[in-house]
Amino acid sequence: MENQEYAMFIDGAKHPVSETFSVYNPATGEIVGEAPQASAADLETAVAAAKAAFPAWAATPDADRAAACLAIADKVDEHAEELARLITMEQGKPLGGVGSRFEAGGIAAWARYTSSIAAGEQTLAEGDGGNVAVHRKPIGVVGSITPWNWPALIATWHILPAIRTGNTVVVKPSPYTPLSTLLLVELMNQVLPAGVVNVVTGDDKAANLGALMSAHKDVRKIIFTGSTATGSKIAATAAPMMKRLTLELGGNDAGIVLPDVDPAAIAEGLFWAGFINMGQTCAAMKRLYVHEDVYDAVCDALVSYAANIPMGNGLDEGSVMGPIANRMQYDKVKALADAGAKEGRVLLGGGEHDGLFFPLTIIADLDNGNPLVDEEQFGPVLPIIKYSDVEDAIAKANALETGLGGSVWSSDTEAAKAVAQRLECGTVWINQHGMIRPDAPFGGTKMSGIGVEFGQEGLHAYTDIQTMIS
Ligand code: NAD
Repeated sequence: MENQEYAMFIDGAKHPVSETFSVYNPATGEIVGEAPQASAADLETAVAAAKAAFPAWAATPDADRAAACLAIADKVDEHAEELARLITMEQGKPLGGVGSRFEAGGIAAWARYTSSIAAGEQTLAEGDGGNVAVHRKPIGVVGSITPWNWPALIATWHILPAIRTGNTVVVKPSPYTPLSTLLLVELMNQVLPAGVVNVVTGDDKAANLGALMSAHKDVRKIIFTGSTATGSKIAATAAPMMKRLTLELGGNDAGIVLPDVDPAAIAEGLFWAGFINMGQTCAAMKRLYVHEDVYDAVCDALVSYAANIPMGNGLDEGSVMGPIANRMQYDKVKALADAGAKEGRVLLGGGEHDGLFFPLTIIADLDNGNPLVDEEQFGPVLPIIKYSDVEDAIAKANALETGLGGSVWSSDTEAAKAVAQRLECGTVWINQHGMIRPDAPFGGTKMSGIGVEFGQEGLHAYTDIQTMIS
């Protein structure tokens, strides 16, 4: 599998191109494979294929589309190990734990769940006063633009609800991690009619495919997961055509630890909240506010848990953490860690290291105003802030423009819920952080996005309403 060439699938077949770009393994710096460099003309071909496939797919019986989602889940299960190894090699996350096998399993689980729900119709009035029915119709060609942190899982979150509801898709993965999406789309094409799911890959330099997709008149909706900066550009580009948008953007989630916690009992949960996927997760806990009564004990418990986590090449079964996924992100993380270290107390990590293996880093005694607190680090560096009044902690948690997730940690669930309800974010967790489920709507408030994914609400985002009055 290593070093093979990967092909784009357009209109149900491999689409040959003359140019490729290299995809690197962040653990070793070696080339994992060559990805096709799509041109603007290739994108046109992909959109045309999706547009041509739309009428028949939209007219396909709902039960058949549900069956196709199940068949995709089975295909992914058959190829789960191949997919997991590819994700590890291009993205860096370890095979085990909450790593690439977990990601491959999530793809199948999401596909199965998406098969089990339906957009549904609603009757609002019936009888002598008149009939009102709400129908849900597919939108058309959906453009999916994905990031590099959970590349194949996020592509699944975009593609499955789109096709379940009768849309067709052109997906464009991040240039850092295109290979697992190419494999995923190849597997999907083994069960779907030609043109229903198409993929284009490119390195953003020769042609910014994402920008071209956002501007394309035949792409009726963009589902985008990535940074707030790129999301804003997409919204501006898409506005003149009234494209439907779902934007899942950056987060800077706060965790608030109340004074009644048992520090040893929450240390493991706090660790995974902040460091899942080396912190490269949109809804990771990116700042931690701890009450002064338990501050030292929580810092100590967290550091002792984090200090024993093995880091290495993700293909080694013993690795629990891998490298940062690419040099661009490494440089961002390093700059924010340095800014944190200037004003804070480094409890763990920092310092020198090899390649992209940034050490797990915990920096205490920081406050809002420091770049490591105010900006999204999207990496393995957690700032800790001491507070004495919970009102102050809530105000600081809500002070930023992001609003993806948040969490409250306490032995008193009701007290935690009361604080949780006051956090300005799309999902809030109690004594955990970051858990997502296919049946629970997920999305950001404020600058963290528009719309939600998952569950019935997520499915509805791939439909237009048609109200029928008779
Ligand atoms: P990014 O915005 O740099 O890139 C995302 C995608 O956009 C890539 O495929 C890229 O090629 C494409 N792109 C680049 N320029 C574009 C343009 N002008 N128009 C359209 N598309 C363009 O983000 P990233 O670095 O890949 O991902 C990290 C970010 O994603 C973090 O901020 C993270 O919080 C966020 N994220 C959010 C969620 C969520 O569900 N809210 C999930 C995962 C990641």
